[in-house]
Amino acid sequence: MASNGYRNGTGTNKGAIKPPASSNIRSSSFKSRLPPSSNHSPGSALRRTSSASFTTAAGGDGVPGRVRVAVRLRPRNAEESTADADFADCVELQPELKRLKLRKNNWESETYEFDEVLTEFASQKRVYEVVAKPVVESVLDGYNGTVMAYGQTGTGKTFTLGRLGEEDTSARGIMVRSMEEILVNVSRETDSISVSYLQLYMETIQDLLDPANDNISIVEDPRTGDVSLPGATHVEIKDEQSFLELLRLGEAHRIAANTKLNTESSRSHAILMVHVKRSVLGEEVAIPTESDKSSHFVKPPKPLVRKSKLVLVDLAGSERVQKSGSEGHMLEEAKSINLSLSALGKCINALAENSAHVPIRDSKLTRLLRDSFGGTARTSLIVTIGPSPRHRGETASTILFGQRVENMLRIKEEFDYKSLARRLEIQLDKLIAENERQQKAFDDEVERINLEAQNRVSEVERNFTDALEKERLKCQMEYMESVKKLEEKMIENQQKHQHDGFMKDKCNGEGPGFCEDIAVIKKLLEKETHMRKEAEKEVNKLKSQLGQHMDAGAGGDAEILKLQIALEDEVHQKKKLEEEIIILRSQMLQLTFEADQMRRCLARGGSGNAYPGLDSPMSQVRDSLSGHKTPVSALFDQVGVEKILDLLESEDANVRIHAVKVVANLAAEEANQERIVEAGGLTSLLMLLRSYEDETVRRVAAGAIANLAMNEANQELIMVQGGISLLSTTASDAEDPQTLRMVAGAIANLCGNDKLQATLRSEGGIKALLGMVRCRHPDVLSQVARGIANFAKCESRASTNGIRSGRSLLIDEGALPWIVQNANNDAAPIRRHIELALCHLAQHEANAKDMINGGALWELVRITRDCSREDIRSLARRTLNSSLLFRSEMRRLRIEL
Ligand code: ADP
Ligand code: MG
Repeated sequence: MASNGYRNGTGTNKGAIKPPASSNIRSSSFKSRLPPSSNHSPGSALRRTSSASFTTAAGGDGVPGRVRVAVRLRPRNAEESTADADFADCVELQPELKRLKLRKNNWESETYEFDEVLTEFASQKRVYEVVAKPVVESVLDGYNGTVMAYGQTGTGKTFTLGRLGEEDTSARGIMVRSMEEILVNVSRETDSISVSYLQLYMETIQDLLDPANDNISIVEDPRTGDVSLPGATHVEIKDEQSFLELLRLGEAHRIAANTKLNTESSRSHAILMVHVKRSVLGEEVAIPTESDKSSHFVKPPKPLVRKSKLVLVDLAGSERVQKSGSEGHMLEEAKSINLSLSALGKCINALAENSAHVPIRDSKLTRLLRDSFGGTARTSLIVTIGPSPRHRGETASTILFGQRVENMLRIKEEFDYKSLARRLEIQLDKLIAENERQQKAFDDEVERINLEAQNRVSEVERNFTDALEKERLKCQMEYMESVKKLEEKMIENQQKHQHDGFMKDKCNGEGPGFCEDIAVIKKLLEKETHMRKEAEKEVNKLKSQLGQHMDAGAGGDAEILKLQIALEDEVHQKKKLEEEIIILRSQMLQLTFEADQMRRCLARGGSGNAYPGLDSPMSQVRDSLSGHKTPVSALFDQVGVEKILDLLESEDANVRIHAVKVVANLAAEEANQERIVEAGGLTSLLMLLRSYEDETVRRVAAGAIANLAMNEANQELIMVQGGISLLSTTASDAEDPQTLRMVAGAIANLCGNDKLQATLRSEGGIKALLGMVRCRHPDVLSQVARGIANFAKCESRASTNGIRSGRSLLIDEGALPWIVQNANNDAAPIRRHIELALCHLAQHEANAKDMINGGALWELVRITRDCSREDIRSLARRTLNSSLLFRSEMRRLRIEL
């Protein structure tokens, strides 16, 4: 398992770069396979490389890996954004875990681990840095290296490798960036860079820099293993501009060459070879002199040339070439592409496994790359994929390319329903507790605010009453005081008067004292009036204060109003939470069902069929009858059937799907059926069938109806509610075999009801049943056969009891040819139902003539001989013997039973 993400597996040194044992190697043949010389300390190349170096994480000892595999996801293009809008991507990336999940369906996915996982957001710079930079750096250090892009046409191989990025530098691909890095690191004076650009098409190498040169041969040096193409053009590169021009020229030639060959670029491999020659200095060598052993004559370092090669390969599209119908040129082309890609895959696997034998010789492509991967060379493979679920198959096979199966982390993530149910239960409990806490806090808050408002109002009232009372007392006191003063004055005046009268008599005139008294009284009166006015003012002031206090009271009212609004809000929230709880409960119900189902299947060792009923009716009844309630029933009681049925009309499509699954599962238990029907469940399910919106909903609703249709009372209800015509419409519309199986199952159940025979026929039920044989799925055929057998049995019973006479309605409806054709069907359930149906039909003389003409007699005779069930064999024999017409026909044909 590539737990460390590197492909050199065992970590042995075989084929890996070894740190130089001695750095003063002088052999002229050291070339690319030599380790870095003296200008680097041992292993420095490895340490210098970026985080994406080829060292294994395991040992950290600098043992290099030979192949790194990265995967890059292309963003959705405009066409996919519209066409696949309703579908999820076929992959899900987990770059932080370096994992890719390939979706198998809504529930299952397979996980693969890569050395690098590049999402649709990865920039060209990042892609260069993780995929190509380590290879380029090792090329600069004197090793050969390869970067290859592999993937289905249109997934971004050329985008990744070949983009020139002239308008937008950030768009430059690996080719341009590699050259840039090489140019920056080499010396213009002493080093040289040259490039060849080739196309490999149908095992022929063409020169993209000189199109006339179209059959270049590969020369391998048997001694060093170096590969060269003496016939190919080598162009010296001095700067980035000349390189860009060369790429453009190569691309133009490629288009022209492919037009001439009448093929597309995607069918050929484009190979860019960059030859790097660097001069390096060997180490100074000390030569001892004869006279003095300790003194040295130092020889100057010897200049060496170090050659290495970077190969960038834009591989042919990985899509499987349509073999059917391919012939001639197309077939040859397909063979050649498959040959080179599969040879490449084998080599990559062998390298990744550090296998002693790398099957280089199998194709021209691998021969050409011989000295660029394997040995000390480094290889990066970037696998490009698209997101479209429509290309899932191609994407899957692309991902598998170059990966050893056992080297790959394939985590099969089973859906753990039990733990999910547990998690949901915990979540549910938390929500319930939270809801309770919020409710309590809210009630407390309302109570507190009410109390506070009341206190404030009563305080204001109290203050006001006190102030009023005080003021009243004050006024009263002042008034009393004034009255008292006036009385005193009056007495004083009276006394004065008497005395003055006496004096007046004496002086016969009014004395000045009287006038003074009047003035005093006047003053007193004025004062009194003034005081009254003041008191009035005070009263008014108090009144206005009271008004203000009243307003303050009104402020309290506004607060209460606000609280009421908050209360309503809370009530609304609570309602929503309750709804959520119901949904969660129903989800849990569904999950518990599925977990039960799974457990039962595992216990039985059977396959996981999520919908019981039909062929395994009442499998759950046993559990519920065994005394105590199943967790499912208990949960069902908690949630309540009405609430679940309400969810069938939820605005959320997922909730609707969920709810219908729950109802279907509940309907599989006989114990629940009555409650479901009483609560209007049957009507709701029929409504769902009528307002068809989604295949899952329709399939599951039909399944639920089929389960309900096992019960005789429900069968009549289904008919009364127009169920048969709805089922017939679904039977003729639906394509999905599982939907058809459910519909056929429901009609088959109705066929077994004596009272419904005529209606079933008149409302098109038999026609609908027979129509479904267009879907050849054995599950559907088996339900159709069961329906026919049920119908024939009821008819036969009615005829025997004298309730009906005449030819079978089944024969009238044209069922006989299909019955005869399938009487010996390979599938046992189909065969068994039909054999029974034939026996029932044969019991009535009115059918005999049609049966003989339709070939049914032969089948009946076969049944008497071959049928594996003794009871059916003897039933067939008895039936044939008791019919006059059959007997005479058998005599005529000399058939003996
Ligand atoms: P291939 O060479 O694999 O056939 P191309 O490189 O020609 O695919 O890419 C096909 C199309 O998808 C091109 O239009 C290209 O610009 C676009 N494309 C590919 N990869 C990316 C990406 N990572 N981001 C944006 N567009 C991309
Ligand atoms: Mg391309």
